[in-house]
Amino acid sequence: MQLGEAASEAAAACGYQVRLIPSPTLMEVWNECWGEGVVVFDATIDPPNQHNYKAATNSLLYSLYCVVLSRSYLPVNFRGHLEPIAPPYPQRWENGQLIERLRQRLLDLLPLLPKPAAAKSLKGMGNLIDKSLTPVLQKNKESFDIFLSYRGTHTQAAQRLVDESLQQQGKRIRIIRTDDMSYPDEVLSLQRRWQILRGIHASISAAHDFWVLWSDDYLSSWWTHGEIMSFASMTKKAKPNLRIINATESETSPSPRQLIPRLTRRQRRTIVKHFFLCNLPESLVRIRKLLDRRLARTLLGLRPDPILDRSFADSPLLECATCAQSRPMNRGLDVEGFLTGKLAPMQPLSAYALAQAQESGTLNCPECRALYRITSGPPRYWWHPTRGEQGTGPGGAVLEERPLYRAVLEQ
Ligand SMILES: [Zn+2]
Repeated sequence: MQLGEAASEAAAACGYQVRLIPSPTLMEVWNECWGEGVVVFDATIDPPNQHNYKAATNSLLYSLYCVVLSRSYLPVNFRGHLEPIAPPYPQRWENGQLIERLRQRLLDLLPLLPKPAAAKSLKGMGNLIDKSLTPVLQKNKESFDIFLSYRGTHTQAAQRLVDESLQQQGKRIRIIRTDDMSYPDEVLSLQRRWQILRGIHASISAAHDFWVLWSDDYLSSWWTHGEIMSFASMTKKAKPNLRIINATESETSPSPRQLIPRLTRRQRRTIVKHFFLCNLPESLVRIRKLLDRRLARTLLGLRPDPILDRSFADSPLLECATCAQSRPMNRGLDVEGFLTGKLAPMQPLSAYALAQAQESGTLNCPECRALYRITSGPPRYWWHPTRGEQGTGPGGAVLEERPLYRAVLEQ
């Protein structure tokens, strides 16, 4: 059976009146999102190029009354507040695995119907987002108590801490596994990194406690820098409780005051701006175009900004473990380096170098010449919303395939 028919059957069994739209247009999806009912969107990608993304809108991702359903893994930026019903990268699920989850979601939504008037007009939108987000955030909060920040070099110590906390105090720790969005050794642009960090930021905000598993190499990664910066950027009221724990007995951890930087207003604003813009690559392209026009520059007060540089979105970066080691230990957080994209272990790779590496299977760090083995995997997808008749991606694409590269240090 097709997914559409199976989903319709499940919805009807839950007591819904069902209308199946086989190949929806953007207008139809938009109207339904603002209509009376619940929208279930089939986001499956069937190779070579069969999918409904031309009809996709952001409302699908941010409305409590929309459910994203997919047999294939989703584009990295096709995510909103609610958990989609879709397999993690790089899996595919059968209808059976999806339908049971869908049935549960539809039953959860029944008591929230009919939709309040605010859900059907733009006027009450802000209020509604707040209201519908509260139960979502509450649900996230209940699923774990502690966000644990640690280096991949100390995974075992982290796992021990998770087990002990649950056994001794009944506390659930969240360890972020980002494989669905990126692998720890994946070659990524800064835009992708910030986009993932934005999700991590949401998890830290939802936690009661934020624990740092301190090791001498804690600060030698972009990701741990990002987690501390994310925590530092929160208001005092929003901050979870901080605890710093040594990964091994031989380490001496810094005090909270030594570890957590006091950010200036400008630095805080830069973080917010990154979180906002990293998810909107098409807006970045448009702002970049405006920058080329003097009048627009003057009128809008646009200034050149590293985030508007083409390399922010397009340049793949190698996070070099060897370069990271060569910097002095415990020097503290490099706030400006992080915010300007010039953190020590980050080495920009040219598209040419990456293409060559793919052919030869190896790559040298452009800075320290350390040798990396390059592996690839199924592509990650990027969704570019439709404007007019076309997608806003390269060449009018709605769905862009981006090759995936992982770089593993040769020992
Ligand atoms: Zn290096």
